[in-house]
Formats: sequence, C-alpha cells, structure tokens
Amino acid sequence: MSAIPIPQSEARQLLPSVDRVLQTENGRLAVATYGQSAASEAVRGAVAQLRARVAEPAASPPDAVDIAGAVLAALERANAPSQRRVFNLTGTVLHTNLGRAVMPEEAVAAVVEAMRYPTTLEFSLDGGARGERDDHVRGLVRELTGAEDAFLVNNNAAAVLLVLATHASRKEVIVSRGELIEIGGAFRLPEIMKRAGAKLHEVGTTNRTHLRDFEEAISHKTGLILKAHASNYAIQGFTAEAPPQRLAAIAKASGVPFCDDLGSGTLVDLSRWGMKRERTVQDALKDGADLVTFSGDKLLGGPQCGFIIGRADLVRACAKNHLKRTLRLDKIRLAALEATLKLYRDPDRLAQRLPTLRFFSRGQDEIRQQAQRVLHDWRSALPEGWGAELRDCASQIGSGAMPVDTLPSAALAAIPPGKRKGQALDQLAARLRGLPVPVIGRIKDDALLIDLRCLDDEDGFRAQLATLRGSSG
Ligand SMILES: *Cc1c(COP(=O)(O)O)cnc(C)c1O
Repeated sequence: MSAIPIPQSEARQLLPSVDRVLQTENGRLAVATYGQSAASEAVRGAVAQLRARVAEPAASPPDAVDIAGAVLAALERANAPSQRRVFNLTGTVLHTNLGRAVMPEEAVAAVVEAMRYPTTLEFSLDGGARGERDDHVRGLVRELTGAEDAFLVNNNAAAVLLVLATHASRKEVIVSRGELIEIGGAFRLPEIMKRAGAKLHEVGTTNRTHLRDFEEAISHKTGLILKAHASNYAIQGFTAEAPPQRLAAIAKASGVPFCDDLGSGTLVDLSRWGMKRERTVQDALKDGADLVTFSGDKLLGGPQCGFIIGRADLVRACAKNHLKRTLRLDKIRLAALEATLKLYRDPDRLAQRLPTLRFFSRGQDEIRQQAQRVLHDWRSALPEGWGAELRDCASQIGSGAMPVDTLPSAALAAIPPGKRKGQALDQLAARLRGLPVPVIGRIKDDALLIDLRCLDDEDGFRAQLATLRGSSG
C-alpha cells in the first residue's frame, strides 16, 4: 500500500467518537446483546487504544464500522461460555477431563424439567409431610441391585469418606497394601482416611496379600475392613489377593463391617455387549460385602454421584452422619440419576439408550465403516502435503474402569510431511482444539489419531472439518 502517512494530530481527530461507533449496526447489536455499559466501555477502550497507537504513523485510522466490528467480536469472545461442548475423539470413553459419562436423552429431559420448575424434592404429595430427597432413587437402587438400602452422595470419593467417617472414626481400617490407591491425584485413600479420622492399618505386601494377613490384623480397634478396586493399575506376575467372599466371612465372624469400594461399579454383565466381564455391584453384594460404594458417572453412565449401598443399619448410620449435609445431591442430579437408572429396567434396549454403553458396545467394523465415510472430508481438511488414512487403534474405557483392557477401534489418522513431525502434530492438534466445536484427538507415534468410537454426531463433525479447511494454519 502506498498511502501517504497522516500526521498524528490529524489521525487522532479522524478517530470516530464512542457515540458514533455505538450508532453503527454492530454497535447497536453490541448494546442490545451485552448492555449499554458493557458496550460503551468496550468501545471506549478500543478508541483509547487506537488513540495511543496513532503515535505510530498509520495509513488511515479505522472508521466507526471497523471499530464496532472489532468490539463486537471481542465482546463475543469474552462472553463465550468457559465450559464448552467438545468432540471427545480421544479414544477414552469415560474421560475425566472431558466430563466422563455423556447423559442419556431421558436424563437430559428430566434435568431440564427439574431446573425449570419447583419439584417434589423433599415433599410428599400424599400429605405434604417432608420426604427425603434420596427416596426418589432409593427404591430403584434396591430393586436393581438387591441391596437392603441405599444412600446417595456427591461422588464416590464422598461415599468412601462418609463410610470411613461413620464406621471407622478413631478406629482402624484394614486395607491391603496392594490397594492403597491414588486416583487422579485428587483421591488418595490414605489421605481420605486421615480426613475421616480413621487409622490406616496396612496388611500384606504390594503384590501379595493373604487372608491370614487380615485375620491377624483384626482387633478390638478395627472399625472396618476395606477393599478398594485397583482402578487405574494392574498388579501382574507373582500376586495374591484375599478373595472377597472369604474376607466377608472373616469380617462377619469378627463383627466388623466389610466395605467393597468398586470405584466404577457396573450394574450389568458387560460381557453381554462384547466387553470383558467386570465384577458387578450385585456380585459384590453376593460375595458378602456389608457396604458397596461406587460412582454414578463411570461405567454406570449417569451423573456425577456416589452410591453407598448394602446393609440397612450401616447405610442408615451413614445417612445420619452430620457430614452428609455437605455431600448431598441437588434436585438436578437426582433427576438425571433417576432417569438413567430407569433405563436399566430394560437391559435389551440399554445399549441404544445409554450413550456410555452404546460407545462401549460399538464393534470395530462399524467404526471402520464410519471412518470410511468421513475419510474423504478428513483428507481434504488437512494441510497441504499431509497424509490421511484409516488406522485401527485401541480405545480405552477410562476413569479407572478396567485399566488394562482396551476395545478394538478405528481412527482417522493425519501424518505430517517432512521433519519436525512433533511440532506439526502439535500445531494440528491446536487447530482442531480451536474449531467452533473443538475436536479432541490424541497424538500417537507419528500421527494424530481421531478415534471415532464416541462419534455420535457425524454431520456436526463433518461441519467442523469444513471449518478446519477454511481456517488458515
Ligand atoms: C474413581 C474411584 C473413586 C472416586 O470416585 P469419584 O466418583 O471420582 O469421586 C474411588 N474409588 C475408586 C476405587 C475409584 O475407581
């Protein structure tokens, strides 16, 4: 451009007034959307910045329309929700950082209703007497699991905390050394015990714990025997674990409650849908656990919550603990949970209706076919010189459910040209994250993989690819 630089003083005068910017179409839109004060403030800021910058000689200062456009875009960015929808194509179905289980439509509808209106959360329509909020799901949980009673709290960490605080405060909790777990850094069993006022009594060794280790440890100081699911690791090789049925028998003989913390906790035999059979909640109860704790948003596929189920007297004692008030569920999650649990009454249609199970049960062939359908769009969306192909891969369950088991899956792969592949892959991953609906894949070896196991919204994904092609990289 060969524009003649305008002297600074003149350029300053050429800048439009705040009012003129607000009078433009985008200016009025900014006022209508974000309010008079936020819009004026933003325009004033933009004009002030330009005034300062006019110190550098410019061809011509921006006019009111340009400024209004920039201000509106900045306001939109600042007001975009912080928590955004994404495409979870990482290959980890229950991704804790991406919010774990995706809720079934039945739960979505129930949540909208519960958010929009007052509800019978703690109100009985039969006579107006105050009911208990857990009553909305208690019967259902008992029906589905066969447990005598059930109590719900904020998450499974809270369930374990409440069990410990209720039954083992100022007492000892016997745990195998092989099960002193840390999950995601935020949940460390020894820490939770300390908070609950319980004393940890470790038995056995990291790889081997025998029944007699527990037997020898039981004393008048024992409050609880705890078994914890080795959620995010596997001990292999020369190992031994006390069988839960035998542990339950020892506990019973000594009059000490036995709690089985399943972590993920599934209510159905997953082998029916082609997965490895995971010990179910019902199995744990049948094996004789007095209390079983598990999460709502892992294998169960519902909202974040924690279950405490089992012997009625022990569950009720948890419900009477003063701590429970700080851990309770709100009406929104109770609505989501009730709707999710009801789907379990019809196991034949569970895999269609419950997204988590739908994702788990998708066969590799079906996912490959889907990958074939979108491969062309994927290829055209990639930068010049990149290779695009269909690759078989392995999906993970996630959230500490079956840590070493994977599900055969298929992915769209992007392979960068030339050297410095790492940098190119990072850049592509960043561009995918920058899409209107961010696409989250994973980098493995020399390629970026988009695992299609969890792709429900194929059209929406294609639309994102079209945007990727349009964006500069
Ligand atoms: C995941 C897990 C927890 C914690 O559950 P949250 O629902 O995440 O609070 C506790 N114990 C075990 C064994 C787990 O796998």
